[in-house]
Formats: sequence, structure tokens, C-alpha cells
Amino acid sequence: MSFPTRTNAIDFDSARLQRLGLAAANSPTQPPLDEEQLQRKLALQLQSSLEADKILSMFFDNVQQLIPLKSLSYKHLGTDLRLEFGERARHSASYRMSYQGEQLGELGFQRERRFNEAELAQLESLLGSLLYPLRNALLYRNASLSALRDPLTGAGNRIAMEQSLTREIEIARRQQQPLSVLMLDIDHFKNINDTHGHATGDAVLRAVTDTIKDRLRNIDQVFRFGGEEFLIVLTNTGRESAALVGERLRHAALQLTYPVEGSLVELTVSLGCSTLLPGESPDSLLRRADTALYTAKRQGRNRLEMAG
Ligand code: GH3
Ligand code: MG
Ligand code: MG
Repeated sequence: MSFPTRTNAIDFDSARLQRLGLAAANSPTQPPLDEEQLQRKLALQLQSSLEADKILSMFFDNVQQLIPLKSLSYKHLGTDLRLEFGERARHSASYRMSYQGEQLGELGFQRERRFNEAELAQLESLLGSLLYPLRNALLYRNASLSALRDPLTGAGNRIAMEQSLTREIEIARRQQQPLSVLMLDIDHFKNINDTHGHATGDAVLRAVTDTIKDRLRNIDQVFRFGGEEFLIVLTNTGRESAALVGERLRHAALQLTYPVEGSLVELTVSLGCSTLLPGESPDSLLRRADTALYTAKRQGRNRLEMAG
């Protein structure tokens, strides 16, 4: 004997979410709420997203039904997240949030009128509704970020590199901007491992990554291409400027001395540079940078070679 199984389809469309009180959008005609109603509404709405910006934007919209605000700002250094809603104003109240030793970020509210004690007490009690949704969103963000990051150096990994190259090439084509890449490889890195041990090798890799990041603009990106090899993507950068950046990185590596057991580890790097040609694929762009790097190695290392 078999029982028929019935499958019910549930489509969480916006009408249903509205009935459940989970809709993100506020209708402008909503009557004002008291604190208890607002707490309930927030508890329901905030759990509907895993994205910190959505959660905080909902929080900002809702809290204003009780406490007038001009802006909400948020920053979480651990996941490099900075958000701002509304417009800044004169008076502010800010909170550093943590839970069981875990940093949940800093939240700031601003407006033209000073906050009174009762409002601050209300605000603090409403902040409680952010705890679990925000904590989950930060865990999720951390997991998404680490899927794209090399754990040793914190540079982007190969997956991130492929995504970024595809995106950057698209942007370069659409906006008719130049795009260049640098392939950087540490010279005789094997010697550092052999002489000082693998752990020192790891520390040197981290130091080199930090040095590279330090010398670049915010919009440039660094990826760990392989063991001791990095790819640097230079947005809106033509051949001559890329050559200058490459030389700057080569000099920075020369100045980088890593202290170990009373002596200093010195190192040099070799670089290959290529600039995107019309209609060129990501693979071809990388291949040309790699060939240039190979030439730099053959010609004695500690030098930058431009792809033809
Ligand atoms: P070249 O100047 O020709 O680039 O010489 P090299 O010694 O830098 O290059 P080679 O490819 O011969 O050796 C690279 C070394 O990098 C070998 C490998 O053990 C080491 N390596 C790769 N990944 C890591 C890592 O994550 N940590 C450490 N400590 N070493 C690594
Ligand atoms: Mg090497
Ligand atoms: Mg190598």
C-alpha cells in the first residue's frame, strides 16, 4: 500500500511577507508604534535577511517611527564593513557592540536635536533586536569573504582573482579604460625556507603581501597566484603607469628586511607586466605577464619586464 504524498508549494511573495509583518518596505501611512510593538516588528523583520546592510537599513527605517533620526552609521573593522544611511547631523549617540567577547561593530546615530535620556534608553533597548541578526550576518559575511581569501596572507585567492579579472576586463571595455596586471614572484624564495625554516618563509610571505598592499591604491587588488607568486590588478592603469607601480613594488621589496634570529632576511622580487589589448581574454593577459616575468628571471632577477 502506498500513501499519496502531497506537496504544498509556498511562495514567499511580498504579499505574504506583508501579512506576516516581514515586509522590508514601510508604507508611509503606517500609524506610529509604541516601543513594544516596534520590538516585535523588529524581531520579525530583522531575521529576514543575512546581509548586514539590509538589516541595518530596516533597523534605521523602523526605529524612526519611534525616535526621529537623521543618520545611522555602522562600521565593523573585522570584516572591513562600513555603512551609512541618511545624512549626518550635529548630535550623535554611538555604541560599540559586543557579545561574549565578540566584536559586533560600532553603531552611530545622528540628528540635529540633542538626544534626551528617555530616547537613549529606548534606543538602547531597541538595539537588543539587532544582536542575533547582526551576529549571523557577520558570520555569513566572514564565511563569504574567507571563501575568496588566501588564509595565509589575506590576499585574494584564485577564485577571487578569476572573478575580479573578468569583472575588470568588462569594466575596462565598457568604459574604454586601460587595465594592467603585474605578476610578481619572490626571487630564490626556496633559499629563505631552506635557511630559516618554513615558518619564517610563511612570515615573509605575509610581510611581502602587506608591503604590496601598502604601496597600492585602494582600488587595486592583490591575489596570491601560487606559492610565492602574486598577481596585482591595476584598474584604469596604462602601460607607463603600471611600469612605475611595478618599479615602486620592486624597490619596496628591497627595503623590506625581515628580522629573524638576530639576522635580517633580505629579498628581491621579479615582475612581469602586461596591459590589456583590444579583445584580449583574461588567460592571454595573464600569459603575457607570466612570459614577461619569466624573461625578468632569466635576465638576472630583481627586475621588471614589460610584455611586448
Ligand atoms: P625563483 O627566483 O626562480 O623564483 O626561485 P624560487 O626559489 O623563488 O622558486 P621555486 O619555484 O624554486 O621555489 C618556490 C618555493 O616556495 C618552493 C616552495 O616550497 C615555497 N613555497 C610555496 N608556497 C609556500 C608557502 O605557503 N609557505 C612557504 N614557507 N613556502 C612556500
Ligand atoms: Mg620565486
Ligand atoms: Mg614561483
